[in-house]
Amino acid sequence: MVKIAVIGSSSMDLVVTSDKRPGAGETVLGSSFKTVPGGKGANQAVAAARLGADVTMIGCVGDDHYGAAILENFKQNNVSAANVEPVTETESGTAHIILAEGDNSIVVVKGANDHVTPDFVKKSTELIKRADMVLIQQEIPEETVEYVSDLCKEFGVQLLLNPAPARPLSQKVIDNANYITPNEHEASVLFNGLSTEDALKQYPNKVFITEGKEGARYHDGEKEVLVPSYSVDAVDTTGAGDTFNAALAVALAEGKSISDSLRFANRAASLSVTKFGAQGGMPIRKEVEETL
Ligand code: ATP
Repeated sequence: MVKIAVIGSSSMDLVVTSDKRPGAGETVLGSSFKTVPGGKGANQAVAAARLGADVTMIGCVGDDHYGAAILENFKQNNVSAANVEPVTETESGTAHIILAEGDNSIVVVKGANDHVTPDFVKKSTELIKRADMVLIQQEIPEETVEYVSDLCKEFGVQLLLNPAPARPLSQKVIDNANYITPNEHEASVLFNGLSTEDALKQYPNKVFITEGKEGARYHDGEKEVLVPSYSVDAVDTTGAGDTFNAALAVALAEGKSISDSLRFANRAASLSVTKFGAQGGMPIRKEVEETL
């Protein structure tokens, strides 16, 4: 079993379905309400555990009802939450989602995720040192991403950075990371001014741009390669990127080649979009291997 350390966000998604989106000052009746665990960090941790990795989450929740539910969800999914700390100063991270008129509107409150600071992560240094792969995203403070990238570089631990949500990165972080996985929008923010072609060429075997149902694109040192995804009946693409990143991290940590790892990640992510919910659709290892 490969050891994956995920450093990132955990939150509770509060999802309301309504026929109509309320305007300013308006009250409408909704038709359903659900709470589902989310956050890119937590989603990727759960996906990696389902794919058979030994996963530890490093993050913060609030000392509240949602925090307890988030911790219970880690337990249910075999993710070690020993390094997830309930903080008393603030509430758990939440995403307030309205599904109406065929689209969603989302307000994110970062809450405890802002407490995932370099000082907090420092307490998990030994764990990070022993990881086969560290997986990080950008729903935690920018300085933490930089700190973790320095730590991984210092200890020679492989780092996969999923630069989502989009924000510019320092050249140092780009250089420190072993693998970077933007979607097309994130790539345009990250490599501002460079064409996709030039960005991929500049970072061969390192930058993998995900292109939804098309799959993922990278440069192998000689040429640009598109590794196609699998054709499926997509019902909900929420969390496709999270499943893709987790699967890629697991496969690369296991020593699979880049092209095999991308095939594995495409397969896992394509299976995830055939079911509702971010974590709801994340496949187990067997489902991926049987359909590769
Ligand atoms: P999200 O934010 O919705 O989780 P993303 O924008 O980070 O996703 P995408 O590029 O949309 O990332 O998708 C990530 C991967 O998921 C793709 O590279 C592909 O492997 C898979 N995928 C996404 N949508 C589909 C689809 N409709 N059919 C098959 N595979 C898909």
